[in-house]
Amino acid sequence: MCAVCGCGDTMEAHDHEHSHGGAEARTIRIERDILAKNAGYAAANRARLRQSNTLALNFVSSPGSGKTALLVRLITEFGARWPIAVIEGDQQTSRDAERIRATGVQAIQINTGRGCHLDAHMVGHAMDQLALGANGLLCIENVGNLVCPAAFDLGEAHKVVVLSVTEGEDKPLKYPDMFAASDVMLLNKADLLPYVEFDVQACMAAARRVNPAIEIMPVSARSGEGLVAFADWITARAPG
Ligand code: MG
Repeated sequence: MCAVCGCGDTMEAHDHEHSHGGAEARTIRIERDILAKNAGYAAANRARLRQSNTLALNFVSSPGSGKTALLVRLITEFGARWPIAVIEGDQQTSRDAERIRATGVQAIQINTGRGCHLDAHMVGHAMDQLALGANGLLCIENVGNLVCPAAFDLGEAHKVVVLSVTEGEDKPLKYPDMFAASDVMLLNKADLLPYVEFDVQACMAAARRVNPAIEIMPVSARSGEGLVAFADWITARAPG
């Protein structure tokens, strides 16, 4: 359970300790311990990725932004550019890993149960089961959640936040940690722009307000628009 975002058993700890007046200090200590442990596993993952010369991307978003559809389209159109492996994170089911495997690419599903994010320890175990090809690409699809995954380094080179145009354009302001932690924002479902009220300029301004350096690319997993730019962005960073 995630003590960092305050859900699950942290609340129990809070109730339990309330009468002793030490709840806040204890919560902060648990949070620090969890993140320190995670940082150790993330460093180990990063060392392994360096060894196999693999570029790892951590895809984060709220549920339903189209992360899996984007990965399927990216693999289908540009999969020949790099050896690809995928780690899928969801609370339940292996549906997303099955969608990835249908493209012919290896995929491992992690089910977090009640957990609201992947952590570096889980990702390390999933990496044990993957053959990471030299100069390859590891795509990690995190649990759909714009809060907790921001705090957990998985050992990736970059976080890629996906925001779809069916969501609110003010999400970067509401969930600033995630947009501050990401190097790229993919504005997905761009093919729907003529049919929805979504102010692209306002959204881009909001994202840049929390992260002036963030790169923004409108894309569509459905029409394929914008994906060449994203594939080129990956190629420019892929070890090789
Ligand atoms: Mg998915």
